[in-house]
Amino acid sequence: MVLGILKEHTYNRVSIVPAAFKKLKALGVEIMVETGAGEKSSFNDATYADTGIESVSRDTVLNKSDIIVSIAPIQNEELSKLKNGAIYISMFAPYQYPDVVNNLDQFPINVISMDMIPRTTLAQSMDILSSMASLSGYKAVLKAADHYNNMFPMMMTAAGTIPPTKVMILGAGVAGLQAIATAKRLGAVVEAFDTRSASREEVNSLGATFVEVEGAADDRGAGGYAVQQSDEYLAKQRALVQERALKSNIIIATAQVRGRKAPLLITEDTINHMKPGSVIVDLAASTGGNCAYTENNKTIVKNGVIIIGNSDLADDLNGVASTLYSNNIINFLQIVIKDGVAFLNEENEIIKSALISKSN
Ligand code: NAD
Repeated sequence: MVLGILKEHTYNRVSIVPAAFKKLKALGVEIMVETGAGEKSSFNDATYADTGIESVSRDTVLNKSDIIVSIAPIQNEELSKLKNGAIYISMFAPYQYPDVVNNLDQFPINVISMDMIPRTTLAQSMDILSSMASLSGYKAVLKAADHYNNMFPMMMTAAGTIPPTKVMILGAGVAGLQAIATAKRLGAVVEAFDTRSASREEVNSLGATFVEVEGAADDRGAGGYAVQQSDEYLAKQRALVQERALKSNIIIATAQVRGRKAPLLITEDTINHMKPGSVIVDLAASTGGNCAYTENNKTIVKNGVIIIGNSDLADDLNGVASTLYSNNIINFLQIVIKDGVAFLNEENEIIKSALISKSN
């Protein structure tokens, strides 16, 4: 059985790094990699060749692989080149793009969407959303620090005392918690908002203050995800966010509700009253953003406040992001492949959730 690795065109990552080949070979898999696949993430063709894997053309990967892996989904023209019954593994976000499954159903392939793997303890080692969100949360704080014209820790110097930077985190999920930990390590004073009842303890355990808005909708039964809040709740929250934002220097916004537009938490009025020089990194930018002025994949300045809209900061850490993505894929393949044979057993909850389109 041949596993093919495609070169990414929109990302700087590669889906499988050479260090993973030992485990793949142990599963009885032959490997094929597209020329230049790892170039942008410092895994050049020679690094793959060192493991005995020669690089081949894109069409060879598409035509000959039994299992094919990418990060960004390929388009119909290339999907039609895949072998009948091939397993294609990527990230389709069907909760965000509802038409994607109908489109895939016209191809005689089996499609695994890694972003549909359940957020359970058993599936944690395959959870690409968590791996990438964690890196994004870390990088968001570094990015903010880079744009901020002050330092994070309190400093007592002969020339005077510098107060610590105040960081506010909106959404204490995977990215938000990593952002809290990073900002704390840099010496900031951190506070965080979330609507999920479980998040208070996690925020406090990282040494940050949890800011509660009373009356959040019950999220039990949502598989760990947040649920949509009422307009009344969000209005109350926006008012409290504004109160805190005026005292903050940096805001890392990560609040999202799966399959919906991100909640608007920082209004134009809030920005107009914030301290010039403050920095907002909006990781929810791709789903509309938590800030009224956010523009996806752009950095803008309003009232002297720097607003960075970027939901994919993991791509800036393409070496480690490739390695973690790769590890997640290998951990998934370990439940699918036995002695060189792949079997998508739908009695397995993880496989059942991730298999979004079947060949028959
Ligand atoms: P996400 O990216 O979908 O959302 C980010 C955060 O925004 C969430 O914590 C959410 O509660 C919060 N949010 C939504 N609306 C908000 C609002 N109005 N104000 C403030 N915050 C708001 O979330 P995620 O990081 O992907 O994590 C989703 C859940 O899955 C979390 O509960 C996380 O702990 C859980 N999880 C579990 C596992 C596991 O058990 N294996 C692994 C990963 C994540």
